[in-house]
Amino acid sequence: MKRISNYDFTYKIMMLGDASVGKTSLTLRYISGSFLEDLKLTIGVDFYSKYTKFEDKRIKLQLWDFGGEERFRFLLSQYCKGANGAFFLYDITNQVTLDHLPDWTQIIRDQAGDIPIVLVGSKIDLDEFRAISREDGIQASKKYNLDAFIEVSSKNGQNVEEAFKLLTELILTEYSLPSDTK
Ligand code: GDP
Ligand code: MG
Repeated sequence: MKRISNYDFTYKIMMLGDASVGKTSLTLRYISGSFLEDLKLTIGVDFYSKYTKFEDKRIKLQLWDFGGEERFRFLLSQYCKGANGAFFLYDITNQVTLDHLPDWTQIIRDQAGDIPIVLVGSKIDLDEFRAISREDGIQASKKYNLDAFIEVSSKNGQNVEEAFKLLTELILTEYSLPSDTK
């Protein structure tokens, strides 16, 4: 068959978590390599695409940056349909942002099935205000059967590339398994 696209795989990735945990900042840091101090609240959902490579495969990541506000929550189930992977972000300086993890994962699992979900502790440059330890983050990821855990800073860029690499690798592994072992 004639190849018509310049990439081998397209994956839909959801950026999820409460308002102000840093979803838009992480998306923009990854897409453009920059950080903005004063972001407008995302209304509904924004889309971004990024081409990346993993081993010999050319991959297009389609990032769905979801507005975490309560009044947009009703849109989430629709948006999660067909997702291939998700990041759930919490802010390491704000305990309640991790408390909502089970509600969000339930919605993702109901709508998109058993896709890889990476738990992301955000804003690690604010370590002096840390309210959630790294160990508590790891425990939460295990308790709710998430696929990986990482802490990042979109402000200084720490672990940003790694987070996306981790999720891309998990998605690729998932889709290259024979279907009867899933
Ligand atoms: P969203 O509502 O989840 O999309 O969160 P935003 O990306 O809009 O970020 C909310 C606020 O947190 C903004 O003022 C950002 O500048 C700030 N923020 C996001 N990521 C970081 C980070 O890694 N470090 C610090 N110090 N602030 C961050
Ligand atoms: Mg946002």
